[in-house]
Amino acid sequence: MKRISILGATGSVGQSTADVIASARGRFEVVALTANRDSEKLAAMAVSLGARHAVVADEAAFDDLKARLSGTGITCAAGADALVQAASVPVDITMAAIVGMAGLRPLMAAIAGGGAVAIANKEPLVAAGRLVMKAARQSGAKILPVDSEHNAIFQVFDHARPEGISRIILTASGGPFLGWSAADMARATPAQAVAHPNWSMGAKISVDSATMMNKALEIIEAHYLFSMPSEKIDVLIHPQSVVHSMVEYRDGSVLAQLGAPDMRTPIAFALGWPERIDTPGRRLDLQALSDLTFASPDKEKFPALPMAYACLASGPAACVAFNAANEVAVAGFLAGRLGFSEISRIVARAVESDLSGDVETLDGICDFDNTVRQTVKSYIIGNEGAFAKKG
Ligand code: NAD
Ligand code: MG
Repeated sequence: MKRISILGATGSVGQSTADVIASARGRFEVVALTANRDSEKLAAMAVSLGARHAVVADEAAFDDLKARLSGTGITCAAGADALVQAASVPVDITMAAIVGMAGLRPLMAAIAGGGAVAIANKEPLVAAGRLVMKAARQSGAKILPVDSEHNAIFQVFDHARPEGISRIILTASGGPFLGWSAADMARATPAQAVAHPNWSMGAKISVDSATMMNKALEIIEAHYLFSMPSEKIDVLIHPQSVVHSMVEYRDGSVLAQLGAPDMRTPIAFALGWPERIDTPGRRLDLQALSDLTFASPDKEKFPALPMAYACLASGPAACVAFNAANEVAVAGFLAGRLGFSEISRIVARAVESDLSGDVETLDGICDFDNTVRQTVKSYIIGNEGAFAKKG
C-alpha cells in the first residue's frame, strides 16, 4: 500500500485523484486531505477515502469541518500552518493540486519529507522552479509531473541521455477563443472563458487556457522540470487535445504520448509510477478521430506566449512577477472587475516594469510575490503610477 496525501483535494485535479484512488482498491492508504474552505466536500471525501487527517486553509471553516467529522476518528485542523503540517506528515506520495502560489509552502513541505511528489500545481514551479527542484535534489523526493503536457514529455523523455534531445514541443488546445477575433475576445465573459472545449478544469486554469497564459506558464514549468533552455521549448496549437506533447531527438525522431483528454490518465501515471495502474478514465478511440491538426500559435492575439520567453530571458524575478500579476488579474476578471483583454495587458505591464526582489529564498519569493500582487491591485483600482518604469 502506498501512503498518499492530496493537497487541494476538493478541486478538479483533487477529485480526479480521489477517483483514481477509489478505483485502484487496496493500492493506496490516504493520510491527509486539504482544501481551502469547502468543509462539506472535504469531510465527505475524507470519510469515503478513509483519510486520517482533514485540513482547511480557511480557519472560518474549521467548526463546520469538526462537526462533520465528529465520531469518525479523522483528525481535523485549520490555517496556513496546519496545511504545511499536513503536507509534512510522512507519505510515499503527495499530490500537489492546490491552485496558485497558495500551494508553494505546502509543496515545499511535502518535498522536504522526501516522498515522491506529483505536481499539478504549476504556479509554484513557475515562480520558484529553481528552489523547488533544488529542494527535491536535496531531499531525494521524486518529482512526477501531472500537468498533461509535462506528464506526456516525462513519459517520452530520455532521462538518462537528455543530450540526445533537440527540443520539446508543448501542444495547446488554443482554448475556447481560438477562432475568435480580438474584438470579440475583448467582450468575452467569465462564463465564456471558463467553458473549455476539451477539458473540465477549475476556474483559474480555464481562464488561463483562454488567454493562453496557461501555455505560457507551462513553457516556464517545462524549463524547470526538464532543465531545458527556452530555445528548445516550442508550442504548437493542436485543438483536438489528443497528442499531449512531444519530444524531438537529434536524429529526427519525434516521440509523443497520446490519450483522451482526461486528467485521470496522467494522474494514474504519477500515482502508480514506476508501475502502470488501471484508471476509470476515458480511452482514446483512434478510429473515431477524423483529424489531428497542428499549427503555429498566433502570438499577436495571444501575447502571453512571447511574454513567457521574455520572462525566462530576464530571469526568476520576472517569472514571479508574471505569475503573481496573472493570478491577480484572473481573479479580477472572474469577479467582473476587468475585461478579458485586460488580463494580458496588466500582466505585460507588470513584467515590463522595474520590479525586483529576493528570489533566492522561499521567504524572499513569497515577499516579492506579495509586493507584485499589491502593486497590481493598486494599478487595477486606477493608480497609473503603481509600476515604476525600467531604466
Ligand atoms: P481547482 O480550483 O478546481 O481546485 C483548487 C484546490 O485548491 C481546491 O481543493 C481548493 O480548495 C484549494 N485551494 C484553493 N485556494 C487555496 C488556498 N488559498 N489555500 C489552500 N488551498 C486552496 O483547481 P484545479 O483545476 O484542480 O487546478 C489545481 C492546479 O492544477 C492548478 O495549479 C492548475 O493549474 C493545475 N492543473 C489543473 C488541471 C485540471 O485539469 N484541472 C490540469 C493541469 C494542471
Ligand atoms: Mg496543461
